[in-house]
Amino acid sequence: MTNIRDKVGRGLVSLVHWFDTDYGNENMAAILAKPDKVEFVRVLPFVILHLGCLGVFFAGWSWFAVGVAVALYLVRMFAITGFYHRYFSHKTFHTSRAAQFLFALMGATAVQRGPLWWSYQHRHHHKHSDEEEDVHSPTLHGFWWSHIGWITSGRNFPTDYSQVRDLARYPELVFLNRFDTVVPFVLAVSLFVLGHFLSVYFPSLGVTSWQLLVWGFFISTAVLFHATSSINSLAHLLGKRRYDTEDNSRNSLLLALITLGEGWHNNHHRFMNATRQGFYWWEIDVSYYLLKALSWTGLIWDLKPVPRAAYEAAYENHHSIPAAKHLSTVRSPRA
Ligand SMILES: [Zn+2]
Ligand SMILES: [Zn+2]
Repeated sequence: MTNIRDKVGRGLVSLVHWFDTDYGNENMAAILAKPDKVEFVRVLPFVILHLGCLGVFFAGWSWFAVGVAVALYLVRMFAITGFYHRYFSHKTFHTSRAAQFLFALMGATAVQRGPLWWSYQHRHHHKHSDEEEDVHSPTLHGFWWSHIGWITSGRNFPTDYSQVRDLARYPELVFLNRFDTVVPFVLAVSLFVLGHFLSVYFPSLGVTSWQLLVWGFFISTAVLFHATSSINSLAHLLGKRRYDTEDNSRNSLLLALITLGEGWHNNHHRFMNATRQGFYWWEIDVSYYLLKALSWTGLIWDLKPVPRAAYEAAYENHHSIPAAKHLSTVRSPRA
């Protein structure tokens, strides 16, 4: 009887967590001490996100809906790599408080939880990469756990604010982190309403409200999740290792293309403070190009350069790579 009551109680708390991710999470030490266990009620929205893709059989498609899906994939991938990762997690450039909040909002549309949770988990990954404590190491815990399993585990849901104190100083970021699900909900409803508006006023587009919801939200978000996740899983398994880091991180052009630059993961693990992750012109890093362009507008500034040591170490390891003195992109250490 007590067992059933406990289960119902836990299920109800999981339900509350759909909307308020910080509810009852005061004792982080106790939460982190728990073993990994899939929280089925808590991950239902994630399951629904994937099932929603099947709506394509009912809603059909149109060029407009597919275009919206692609555009939202690209914009939100940039928000994840450019803002959640290179700004919030690593602070590789500076910006204003207002822009910081805007970046956090954009990141939250990607349905990868709040900016402080993302940064906390990511910093933890860098600290313990491919060690037992790493919550998503494919070499230690298997491909599927590193790709998707770890985010279903109860102990990985809460944000340990003590590990992101620099971000937790801003109440607006903490608020957004706590109620992050509101953002994708608003996005989904907006797409549905927009689809209805377009179907009434621009019928020649052939788009419907269900199409925009299925393509723009469900399909785009599910693909976005798996592409981002491939950096946790595949980028520690496939590709080349330029730097002999203690983890198993790798560089992969294919992963860099689908994630707008995150595939240069071995570069990043070795020099995580640089804004740029593709260190050479042939290492395509679209997020860096966009961040560079944003810096010209004055919205962001102080992008941290790739240190000279990165080029020197690369040359030492692989002589086919140009020596640092021949590279125009290399700045002196004080630059
Ligand atoms: Zn990694
Ligand atoms: Zn990182």
